[in-house]
Amino acid sequence: METPIIELKEVSRRFPAGDQEVAALDRVSLAIRPGEMVAIVGASGSGKSTLMNILGCLDRPSSGQYLVNGRETGGLDNDALARLRREYFGFIFQRYHLLPHLDAVRNVEIPAVYAGVEKNRRRARARELLCRLGLGDRFDHRPGQLSGGQQQRVSIARALMNGGNVILADEPTGALDKKSGLEMMAILHELHGRGHTVILVTHDMNVAAHAGRIIELSDGVVVRDEVNPASPAVDRGRMLEPEREDRQANLLRVTWSRFGEAFKMAWIAMVSHRLRTLLTMLGIIIGITAVVSVVAIGQGARQKVVNDISSMGTNVIDVFPGKDWGDEKASAIHTLVPADIDALKSETYVDSVTPILNGSVLVRYRNLTANASVSGVGDQYFRVRGLEIDQGSIFREDDVRRQTQVVVIDQNTAKKFFSGSSDAIGRVIFLGALPCRVIGVTREKESPFGNNQNLSVWIPYTAAMGRLLGQQYLSSATVRVREGLSNQVAEQNIITLLTRRHGTKDFYTSSSDTILKTVNKTTATLTLLISAIAVISLVVGGIGVMNIMLVSVSERTFEIGIRMAVGARQSDILQQFLIEAVLVCLMGGLIGILLSYGVGLVFPLFVTAITMKFSTVSVAAAFFCSSLIGVMFGFLPARNAARLDPIQALARE
Ligand code: ADP
Ligand code: MG
Repeated sequence: METPIIELKEVSRRFPAGDQEVAALDRVSLAIRPGEMVAIVGASGSGKSTLMNILGCLDRPSSGQYLVNGRETGGLDNDALARLRREYFGFIFQRYHLLPHLDAVRNVEIPAVYAGVEKNRRRARARELLCRLGLGDRFDHRPGQLSGGQQQRVSIARALMNGGNVILADEPTGALDKKSGLEMMAILHELHGRGHTVILVTHDMNVAAHAGRIIELSDGVVVRDEVNPASPAVDRGRMLEPEREDRQANLLRVTWSRFGEAFKMAWIAMVSHRLRTLLTMLGIIIGITAVVSVVAIGQGARQKVVNDISSMGTNVIDVFPGKDWGDEKASAIHTLVPADIDALKSETYVDSVTPILNGSVLVRYRNLTANASVSGVGDQYFRVRGLEIDQGSIFREDDVRRQTQVVVIDQNTAKKFFSGSSDAIGRVIFLGALPCRVIGVTREKESPFGNNQNLSVWIPYTAAMGRLLGQQYLSSATVRVREGLSNQVAEQNIITLLTRRHGTKDFYTSSSDTILKTVNKTTATLTLLISAIAVISLVVGGIGVMNIMLVSVSERTFEIGIRMAVGARQSDILQQFLIEAVLVCLMGGLIGILLSYGVGLVFPLFVTAITMKFSTVSVAAAFFCSSLIGVMFGFLPARNAARLDPIQALARE
């Protein structure tokens, strides 16, 4: 005797009802051979649908055994059951259960997508099936654009997509008019004739009369199981082999095809709820825009400060009298003298060094007067400070030695007294009572702390000591460290040298290097702070995404049920919703990045001091973060979706 394709042994299905249980099926045993056409009849509530769900591996028996093609199904996991559904069964539902967003061809090909059939092949087969069912001109129509009978034919094509060895039809004519119902039965007959096993549920005895065998259920018990002598004769064809899922063949392609479907569905879901998707993205958009632009502004600001400090010289060390900044006794310390400068000059790590005496004088030229700060400096001062000359020249060592009365003035002074820097050269101005010849004008220098409005003039420090300020000690000294040498080591050496010379450490040093480090540290702290705020905003955005995804899952429970019925694995469903969450976040991220570039365009209109610096790292990090958020906050809803029970999902129309 032939192996039954379907065999139930003492199968019961009990549902909890209050404190008790109701048995929708009670120890049902039956065997159906390949190629049979069976009608299951019975009053409403007699257990027909419950039986069909168990036959179709959508539900499991509470007790008893169910064998498909001789194989026990009790020990199979969800994915194995999904595979059985794909390989053996084709479902036809009373209300068609097509996916409303997809056209006819796409609906038909879904089972093949999950079986991993190559795209062109499955599309060709879907078209062929639709043609055979008389829908050759309805490929691109969505379910809403088709009549009930046409939709039911699309659902038959879908049932046949992977072979449809066993066709399970629950009240297939229930929602159809009489004519469509007859058409439907004719098709089922034809399939039966071609060797498909057809099991249909009906409460209509006229419909049941088409079947070769009638099984009647009453309160979950088989009360009648007999051959129908009135059934129309059919020539029994051979049993159709289902299209085998070839697993080894091309795992990559199968995975890709499933991924493609998941991606497409995610995309459709997003596009069909544009406003909602956009609002969901908003949190992510704001978060990403904030981070990317703030980081860019921070980078720009840092860059500017660093540039400014570098232009002052990052390898410069100042020496001041006193214990530390703001030492009130500092003015009484007169130990820093020109001889210290000479000592420093001969050190190997010193590139150049200059003494500095500070004072303030009334400058006069003809009838013009103005207050200016005057500095007595060495000839190397301009190199140490990185000051460039616009016109004329700086004073030489010779001028320093001979206390020459020459002066270098800045642009402000040149503008104040003369019509321009070239006009200033060679003129004699009075610093207090001391006449000095202007020999050079410095180029204007960008200051990190805003543009200086002071007038500054520089004369040889010897002249300042002997002829102008009358002090024999220095206000400070500035050392430029040789390129490539460590500021720290140089600073240490300077301290040792001067301490030895002074007998005590009555001075302090300040290195521009230290300032730079402080700036870097401050920016790092600020960036961290802003990042923390950004993380909070992204988490809030992520929770928004999770919320909407949960809504989306519960809205599409029915779709999930259909997909599972036609053979989607749990992982397919998980993937679909995860992709959707990641897509929402990624698009949010992308929009955020674009927006921050927009900010970058508008920003210079308001702030000119700083230019925004977009780094590829921060953009890449933004992308990475948004995908991560998608995965993290999409996982829970996606897992909920994947864990849905197909029957309960299908019941939620
Ligand atoms: P039919 O399809 O023959 O009308 P069903 O198989 O749908 O009958 O239902 C058989 C019995 O099982 C009914 O009494 C129904 O209330 C009960 N039943 C079906 N599904 C569930 C369920 N998920 N939970 C509780 N009871 C159920
Ligand atoms: Mg029913």
